[in-house]
Parts: sequence; C-alpha cells; structure tokens
Amino acid sequence: MTIQKKGTIIVLSGPSGVGKSTLIGEVRKNLPDLKFSVSCTTRAPRSGEQHGVHYYFLTQEEFARRVSADEFVEHAQVFANRYGTLKSEVLQSIRRGETVILDIDVQGAMQIRAAAERDPELAAGTVFVFIGPPSVEILEKRLRGRATDSEEQISMRLKNACHELAFWNKYDYLVINGNLEKAVEEMTALFRSFALRTAVYPEELFHE
Ligand code: 5GP
Repeated sequence: MTIQKKGTIIVLSGPSGVGKSTLIGEVRKNLPDLKFSVSCTTRAPRSGEQHGVHYYFLTQEEFARRVSADEFVEHAQVFANRYGTLKSEVLQSIRRGETVILDIDVQGAMQIRAAAERDPELAAGTVFVFIGPPSVEILEKRLRGRATDSEEQISMRLKNACHELAFWNKYDYLVINGNLEKAVEEMTALFRSFALRTAVYPEELFHE
C-alpha cells in the first residue's frame, strides 16, 4: 500500500551574494522532483525570464488589486519592487504532496511564520531554512566581486544583507555556503529528511 503523504513548503532565504541560486541549482540536480513556487512581482522580466515560469509579472495596479483581495500568503517590497507569494500556490502544493521551495526575503518569511501560527495546515507544512555566508567579510568580498554593480548599489546590497543576516536564528535550519560542494550535500540531505517529518503522514496512518 502506498502512503499518501502531504507536501513540504521550504521557505528559503539568504542575503544577496550568498550564492543562493547556484546552490539551489545544484540541489535540484540531486532532487529533480523539487518544485519552485512561482511568485508575483512588479519588476520587469530579465532576459530569458518567462511569465508563469520564473515569476508572474504584474503591473503595480494588478499587484495592489491582489493584495486587496487577500490573495497573498505574504508580500513585501524588496529594493524598488513588490514581490508576493500566492496562497493558492502554497496550499495546493501541500495538498498535492509536493516539496516546494519558496525563495523569498526575510520579511516574507516572517509573514509566513506569523500566518502559520494561525493556520495549522500551513504550520504542519512549512520549514524555514536560511543560507548564510561563512562570514560578513566574505559576503562583502563576494558582493564586490560583481563587477556590474556601482559602489552605491554595493553598499545598499551590503546594508540589506546585514539586515537579513540578523534573522538567521528565526529559521529552523542554517546552511553555511562556504564550500559549495559541502553546502550542496548538506542541503540535499536536509531536504530529503523533510519527506520523513511525522507532520507529512496522514493522521490515521496506524489506525486499525
Ligand atoms: P529577484 O528580483 O532578483 O528575482 O529577487 C530579489 C529578491 O526578492 C530575492 O531576495 C528574493 O528572495 C525575493 N523574492 C522573490 N520572490 C519573492 C516573494 O514572493 N516574496 C518575497 N517576500 N520575496 C521574494
């Protein structure tokens, strides 16, 4: 008999420059069933980004309409743009038994924490994972390594990164991305373990 398990929403945050995208890309090679929640944003698509795949690209008006209609489980302003996670994306995934990554900033993650306190289904279905650098100095070096950014952009990103770092212990797990291979291994093991949480099994599991 196959057991119908519930899914897990992995709320994943980490400051700019920590290597989040590379890390996630590598982990997905190990765990091809891992899904991504598609967020809404008001920012313009970058080259190669597709509506409905990378983001739902919305106008300011459409985003505001969805906020008023209470369609978001969380939403936040990150730099100059608005970002939000639709309730429908998250709850349907839990019910379908999927493991889904929400790559969101700390403001959004803390909103989901608060929402989970009011909603047992969300509480049972979510885990919070933070990706950190080995040190602030190394993070700064990585941010400066992006030759495309101006000094002003770098210092803004660094200030924001330090703000985000202060939230690390509000998460359930911390993966430090010093050595990519090690971090990929740790994150893969961690994500695999989520499918074994007692919360994902049906309550009537061992009833006669
Ligand atoms: P980017 O514009 O580079 O794709 O994302 C910028 C930042 O917005 C990243 O830190 C990312 O984690 C965050 N972000 C992306 N989607 C969401 C979302 O739905 N909600 C929140 N709160 N942050 C998001």
